[in-house]
Amino acid sequence: MFHFNRLNLEEATSILESGYSYQEKFPFAPKNYHEALENYRNAMVLAGDIAGNFIEPRSAQIDMDGSQLKDGKVTYAKGSSESYKQLADAGFTGTILPYEYGGLNFPATIYMMLIELVSRADAAMMTMIGYQDIGEAISKFGTKEVCEEYLPKYISGEHIGSMVMTEPAAGSDLQGIQLKAYQDDEGNWFLKGNKHFISNGCGDMLLVLARSEEGKSMFGLSLFACHGGEKVNVVHVEEKMGLHGSPTCQLYFDDAPVKLVGRRKQGLLHVLYVLNHARFSVAAQALGIAEAAYHEANEYAKIREQFNKIIYKMSPVANMLIDMRVAIESSRSLLYAGAQWLDLRNNLEEKVAHLKAKGQPFEEEKKTFNDAAKMVDLLSPLAKYVITEMAVKACYDAQQIHGGMGYMREMKVERLARDVRITTIYEGTSQIHILGASKNVINDMLKDFFEKNEKKDFGKKLLTSLKRIKEIRVLFLESLALVKVHESIDFRTVAAKELVDMYGYLYTGYLLLNEAYIEERKVLIANRYINSALAKSHASLAAIKNNQYNDLENIDEICNV
Ligand SMILES: Cc1cc2nc3c(=O)[nH]c(=O)nc-3n(C[C@H](O)[C@H](O)[C@H](O)COP(=O)(O)OP(=O)(O)OC[C@H]3O[C@@H](n4cnc5c(N)ncnc54)[C@H](O)[C@@H]3O)c2cc1C
Repeated sequence: MFHFNRLNLEEATSILESGYSYQEKFPFAPKNYHEALENYRNAMVLAGDIAGNFIEPRSAQIDMDGSQLKDGKVTYAKGSSESYKQLADAGFTGTILPYEYGGLNFPATIYMMLIELVSRADAAMMTMIGYQDIGEAISKFGTKEVCEEYLPKYISGEHIGSMVMTEPAAGSDLQGIQLKAYQDDEGNWFLKGNKHFISNGCGDMLLVLARSEEGKSMFGLSLFACHGGEKVNVVHVEEKMGLHGSPTCQLYFDDAPVKLVGRRKQGLLHVLYVLNHARFSVAAQALGIAEAAYHEANEYAKIREQFNKIIYKMSPVANMLIDMRVAIESSRSLLYAGAQWLDLRNNLEEKVAHLKAKGQPFEEEKKTFNDAAKMVDLLSPLAKYVITEMAVKACYDAQQIHGGMGYMREMKVERLARDVRITTIYEGTSQIHILGASKNVINDMLKDFFEKNEKKDFGKKLLTSLKRIKEIRVLFLESLALVKVHESIDFRTVAAKELVDMYGYLYTGYLLLNEAYIEERKVLIANRYINSALAKSHASLAAIKNNQYNDLENIDEICNV
């Protein structure tokens, strides 16, 4: 609610609602921003109710039941189908999708809040409710015919969607995709070949990236919409560590008929566009899981006594709890700041195109769009990396606070620790996102933002924190300068993690300072976060100064034992 009450979605919502002109066609559409916000608020209250009272009580059993493959057909755990139906009946299966096909037409930021709530209740349910960017891609790039064919049943919850990209030889590097897309004499498209590790690959609305041209070029890939069924064989459902409610499928496309989505050869570019959305979604999933783990740990710490004292009162445990809470709240600030930029970017893009088509001036909107696009370019990989790594650590610590009990199946935290592990891997690994963010970090993309914030009067209480943030900035720039002097190896990739981390501390630090300025309790969060970020930045600088990474040249001697 802290973030909801401070949303800045006025411009994005106005564009999304076409200047609030939809009521004639869709009577439930809001008449103004105030009404839109009320709709979002009511929807989130309902989502919280469903998540807490319906989905969460089913999640432990879903984890035990998993999904089954029999005679080529996948059956979901009973609880998964029930939870999905509940969300669909409330309209949440079309949260960000257009009114025209039955969707709620909500901004991405509200959708992220939905994902966080649902994932806190059942992390696996996120792969069913939280992949709406598949529908978004169809609606943005597909023809009207394709939209009409696919979207209504997906939005009503009758069909489950799936994003089909990964192949055994094409994981992080999607240019390696080999699934063949070909046309018959009438120009109809078909797919032949394999995909693996596909969440809900047994679904009915598959968005597939396939090779439509010979060779290995990124411009040889196109995007297709495909119905599941006889021509899409589920060969295998993976046995995996967590997310048991979400079947991860190996697929064989047996001359499956498909429809082209968007422009031929532009498939990877279309996918990269929607991946921004997907990265924030996985970050929101991880955040939800971390929040659940935190509450388990906090409650357990308050009832567990050792040495005649509750462990909550013991400093090593208290430090873990405080660090978790601060990490979760700072991550939430990062996520919703990023999501609001995403909304602005997506909607301004539409507006600029619209103004252009009408021959009206669009320069001002274009400038703001460019700024928003740059922010998303930085914040989507940054948030995905920072928040998912945070969540893995939070679940690990939550388990630790439970002692031996944390290792037991009967404890919820054991499941959360398994479920969270995938979040740093899928939708791009942490390493890929560090590299993705590093370009904008090295260019110091947020320079103006930092300078603007430095000039703010944060008040006496926060002055020390502000000074520390400035110190981090100096350390960051020093590290950057040092990184460049090494020539033997590409040091920009070697120290990319440290640089991206420091940049993340700076940006998030300022977000927290701004929050602390308006709410007393947040002063404590900002102080802990910034002090700890400063300590980690000092350590990173020392590592770079001491040439810690020079031994990369010796990988063979060190590792080949
Ligand atoms: C449970 C689950 C569900 C999934 N769901 C889907 C889905 O619905 N749809 C879909 O298309 N895919 C899905 N995936 C696939 C997932 O997106 C990939 O596993 C992921 O992108 C990583 O690819 P990979 O497994 O081939 O690892 P690899 O790409 O082989 O990476 C191995 C290691 O090398 C590192 N690495 C690779 N390249 C670089 C580089 N350039 N620089 C630095 N480090 C690098 C990686 O960070 C990683 O640590 C799913 C996977 C799992 C496990």
